[in-house]
Amino acid sequence: MTTKTDFLVIGGGSAGVATARRAARHGARVTLIERGRMGGTCVNVGCVPKKVMWQAGRMANAMDDMSGYGFDGEPMRHDWARLVERREAYIRRLNGIYDSNLEKEGVDVVRGSARFVGPRRVRVADAEYEADHVLVAVGGRPVRPDDILGSDLGIDSDGFFALESLPARTAVIGSGYIAVELAGVLAALGSRTSLLFRHDTVLRDFDEMLGPLLVEAMRGQGVDMRANSPVSRVERDGGDLLVHHGASEPLRVDQVLWAVGRVPETASLGLEVAGIASDEQGYVPVDAFQNTNQAGVYAVGDVTGGPALTPVAIAAGRRLADRVFGGQADRHLDMTMIPTVVFSSPTIGTVGLTERQAREQFGDAVKVYGSTFRALYYGVLDNKQTSCFKLVCAGDEERVVGCHLFGSGADEILQGFAVAMRMGATKRDFDDTVAIHPTSAEELVTMT
Ligand code: FAD
Ligand code: NDP
Repeated sequence: MTTKTDFLVIGGGSAGVATARRAARHGARVTLIERGRMGGTCVNVGCVPKKVMWQAGRMANAMDDMSGYGFDGEPMRHDWARLVERREAYIRRLNGIYDSNLEKEGVDVVRGSARFVGPRRVRVADAEYEADHVLVAVGGRPVRPDDILGSDLGIDSDGFFALESLPARTAVIGSGYIAVELAGVLAALGSRTSLLFRHDTVLRDFDEMLGPLLVEAMRGQGVDMRANSPVSRVERDGGDLLVHHGASEPLRVDQVLWAVGRVPETASLGLEVAGIASDEQGYVPVDAFQNTNQAGVYAVGDVTGGPALTPVAIAAGRRLADRVFGGQADRHLDMTMIPTVVFSSPTIGTVGLTERQAREQFGDAVKVYGSTFRALYYGVLDNKQTSCFKLVCAGDEERVVGCHLFGSGADEILQGFAVAMRMGATKRDFDDTVAIHPTSAEELVTMT
């Protein structure tokens, strides 16, 4: 039997759910197909559980700082299993909220794995679904490098969230968001953590100020930061894992965590049957309006190979629904000036052009302002964490085209400044804004 509908959405993650709900609100009949837990990566094995773990890490760090604030007493023990239980209960509540929101909006939910059997036709088990408009929002999954012997002895970020106890010694391999975030959490909660990365720094796609600062800060927090350490092999030795890397002695650990990137979940989707183009890695290319090469077929979120961030998936999806079902012909997401935060310790916030990108684009018409300071929080502590904020300005009017923050609070400071920058704020506008004292944020409006 074939069910006909207006809009078929494959994937119930950030992209699929947001697009389906907005389309239904515009009056479309929507069917959403999801094979796993509603909410996708972000809710189940991404942003949400990561942030919960990061909060726990922050509390552990704060406990280290407490004596400087006059507190005394036995250090509290951490119960990993209790945290995981409470985190998963929270996620189950979110899954339920996602389900009921879809139901309230009148979206039909089909449980199962979808596969294309025609241009705008998919099969789930024995049933077929057809629509004039189809959205591919299948997201991605973490990879473990299959060219490195023994890589399957380690876990990936999904495996991290499945851990029932804290490993005593962990080797985290990678240099992107997930590597630095999860290494920070593991170390803060008491695992002896090594971070192995292939080059001389981490976060190499970010402004060049940030990676070296984070390497130094993490080292100061006791993380064994191993630069220029490509891993060649992992092997089991009794109950231990040996990580062979560079020219050094192998590292002996209890757990290996790969954080070396993700791949799109398109291998068994049957894109070729539907004539939907994908690139050699399996990403589905789209234009600025989320159109694939096939009329009536769109892709949104991680599967497109664009910025792999939840708010990007949601914003692009809602705009697509507004365009296709809401009569807003030009509606699409401008992919520039996307703010993003790395939940490292301390946090990193960044929006706009890196200094290097600005110089490539504007040449000599670039002026960079910076502030290096110690947040007041550290004033009474022996632990003197440094913060570094940078503004990249371009042109005679000194339009602020890049803002890069390293330091605690960066995660909450950035959003408002991103609004100002999207509106075209200049350095003068920053200067003309009265500071809020005493905060770290005030450094951004007092730079000379
Ligand atoms: P997904 O959320 O992956 O959803 C895709 C859905 O499609 C899944 O539910 C999957 O089950 C389903 N699916 C796949 N194939 C099929 C099929 N054939 N049939 C039916 N269903 C199918 N972003 C941030 O902005 N902030 C963060 O702090 C952050 N932290 C992260 C931490 C980690 C550890 C990870 C891994 C990611 C993090 N991200 C973060 C990225 C964010 O999670 C993703 O960008 C976002 O989830 C992408 O949404 P999506 O809808 O494109 O894909
Ligand atoms: P990233 O793409 O951010 O980083 C992966 C990095 O790992 C590569 O850039 C590479 O860096 C390094 N790498 C690749 N292969 C190897 C290898 N064999 N050995 C050692 N290092 C290797 O991927 P992530 O998995 O960290 O995250 C995926 C995406 O999810 C992110 O890009 C981000 O968009 C999203 N995300 C967002 C978060 C947030 O918003 N806070 C948090 C987590 C994820 P190099 O070339 O330097 O070696």
